[in-house]
Amino acid sequence: MAYASDCVQGKVQGVEGNAPIINHPDVKRMLMQMRALTEAGRAMSFFTIAAEDRSHRHCDADQRAADAQLVEVMTPLVKGWCTEVAMESTSLGVQVHGGMGFIEETGAAQHMRDARILPIYEGTNGIQALDFVGRKCLRDGGETISLLLAAMQQTASELSAANGAIGELSTALTNTVEQCQQALDYVLANSAKSPSLAYNFLMLFGNSVSFWLLVKLAAAAQKRIDQGSSDLFYTQKIKTTRFFSSQILTRNLGYLASIVTQTNYSEELIAEDFQTL
Ligand SMILES: Cc1cc2nc3c(=O)[nH]c(=O)nc-3n(C[C@H](O)[C@H](O)[C@H](O)COP(=O)(O)OP(=O)(O)OC[C@H]3O[C@@H](n4cnc5c(N)ncnc54)[C@H](O)[C@@H]3O)c2cc1C
Repeated sequence: MAYASDCVQGKVQGVEGNAPIINHPDVKRMLMQMRALTEAGRAMSFFTIAAEDRSHRHCDADQRAADAQLVEVMTPLVKGWCTEVAMESTSLGVQVHGGMGFIEETGAAQHMRDARILPIYEGTNGIQALDFVGRKCLRDGGETISLLLAAMQQTASELSAANGAIGELSTALTNTVEQCQQALDYVLANSAKSPSLAYNFLMLFGNSVSFWLLVKLAAAAQKRIDQGSSDLFYTQKIKTTRFFSSQILTRNLGYLASIVTQTNYSEELIAEDFQTL
């Protein structure tokens, strides 16, 4: 953000002379994508860490058990989704800097290299995806993940009467829950295909659960604004969630289509298929 505000390159309508690159629509997209993915990842991580704390310390035994179950289902999502988007975000960080990002002086490339190990260690993301679809969703017939979907739908219902941005986000959240439900129903009915659809299944749920948490944050921010706050922090929270809704959540259509496709690439492809040049 500091570099994009400083570096002057090209013309932008409405800005006199050469403009700082932060005014270019594509640079705004990259910065917002980095912000939205980072805030979504943080939201999902803190949500899970809080559940982990409650699973040990809550005074009610039933609540401790419910939180322990939540941590189980959330762990592959936090590990898998956050580390996939960490690579995307740090790569965008290089791109914002242009050629200066690729060479070492800015430090942007170092962040990208550091992020590259994240999907590999502590269990590769291929294994996280198998864990999520197999042990966390199929083994109990979708019971635990359905509780999470019900909580997401409850938020959407609670916010459905809101005006403006929050009302729109609530509609997007309802659609998101439907997409997840469709994917879950499909995998429950086609469990043999689960290894080949596992990655897209994890990405669909990671995208969706993190969007749910961003919507809750946006609603809390709107409450503060309604109470009279003019703090930019709150308006930015809502803008970031709206950006996520229109530019990142829309990936769900692709994830879902890849899950419910009749083609089973895993059965069609044999090792020899990779030998041809
Ligand atoms: C910098 C660094 C630090 C590390 N630190 C630690 C550490 O502190 N403690 C520790 O215990 N380990 C550590 N590791 C090891 C790390 O956990 C492993 O590298 C990681 O689990 C992947 O295992 P692997 O390298 O054997 O890859 P492989 O298991 O050979 O995986 C190669 C590819 O095949 C896929 N694959 C493998 N098996 C399956 C399967 N059954 N189904 C589907 N896909 C599969 C994987 O997803 C991956 O894409 C570290 C590794 C690195 C590089």
